Amino acid sequence: MVPAIKPDPGFQELESRLHIIADRGLYRSRRVTENGQGIFLEVDGRRLLNFCSNDYLGLASHPDVIRAFQSAAERYGVGSGSAHLICGHSRPHHQLEEELAEFTGRDRALLFSTGYMANLGVISALIGKGDGVFEDRLNHASLLDGGLISGARFKRYRHTDVSSLKAGLKKAAVKRMLIVTDGVFSMDGDFAPLDQLAKVAGEFGGWLMVDDAHGLGVAGKNGRGTLSQFGLGQEDVPVLMGTLGKGFGTFGAFVAGSGALIETLIQKARTYIYTTALPPAVAEATRASLKLVIAEEWRREKLRTLVNQFRQGASQLGLELMESHSAIQPVLIGESRKAVDASAFLVKEGLWVGAIRPPTVPEGSARLRITFSAEHRTEHVDRLLNALDQAGLRK
Ligand SMILES: *Cc1c(COP(=O)(O)O)cnc(C)c1O
Repeated sequence: MVPAIKPDPGFQELESRLHIIADRGLYRSRRVTENGQGIFLEVDGRRLLNFCSNDYLGLASHPDVIRAFQSAAERYGVGSGSAHLICGHSRPHHQLEEELAEFTGRDRALLFSTGYMANLGVISALIGKGDGVFEDRLNHASLLDGGLISGARFKRYRHTDVSSLKAGLKKAAVKRMLIVTDGVFSMDGDFAPLDQLAKVAGEFGGWLMVDDAHGLGVAGKNGRGTLSQFGLGQEDVPVLMGTLGKGFGTFGAFVAGSGALIETLIQKARTYIYTTALPPAVAEATRASLKLVIAEEWRREKLRTLVNQFRQGASQLGLELMESHSAIQPVLIGESRKAVDASAFLVKEGLWVGAIRPPTVPEGSARLRITFSAEHRTEHVDRLLNALDQAGLRK
């Protein structure tokens, strides 16, 4: 439903478009939360059990991370003052870059203010007119947008389908080729076939770029991400992008790779050059969170246990799961309105699960996107399964 809006004669056309969106069950609106991120969120005077955050490791409100943020704010203030290339590149930013390079086993890393901006900036810095960009059709919106604005020939291949990619590469008459994929797909939770993609990229002399927003911190040894799970290094995947607002529980993003890549981005990536640097305190908070990511293997083990418990229970209930072994566990519904109704039912039961609809996911594949956190307990998963059972979603 469109909320009551004060009439604006100049914008009548927009208002009627809003009603069309609402009629299709695609209206988006926000809920105001009153507390910090955690497994319970206070909304409308209620406490909802949270199954929709990307704070997979439960670090967003970790006391060490908060303390690092506070003491850095005392020392460095709040705002960074300018872009990195003017006078906004502080010691905490620089140290975090060095630590992220080491963490990912790469020569260098470069911080960006958000993942969206990193993806736009990197793709446009590497390729342009006369080149080709090849993307999995379920890539994150920021990767698709990056490909579109780069000016390169833009080609989507079927989801995780290496032969579909190969067919596109064979036909392409372009100078440079950039193959771009999510490591873990954000709305499906499945992994890209990175070993095969790296092989194909090698055969065709193309560059492979992986966005590991949902793998870093969560997958691989010490949370080193999807590439580490596949045993792939900088030679196989020259461009790695990661975000810090998900598994790391803070904010921002980075790109890691060779010195030539990073120096090129500093010269050419417009979303790096023309934007204010992250607050240094955010960088310090991320350094604290990186230490926890590496040291606390129990968080990843706990996630695996919760995910197994959920998948087992959900398949017993006859729910339609997807081929996902990550912390993202979608329940496929199909129709947008049904997904919204199911999400509303769960809220009534005290659970917060997001309904994901087109255009975020393909038409007819609306779903509940359930995400787990290392801070969840077995009882919480039981509660979720009970509520899903009552929601009448059996396939
Ligand atoms: C969240 C996300 C981004 C965007 O990162 P932000 O830092 O939130 O802008 C990019 N890629 C993927 C796969 C994501 O899930």
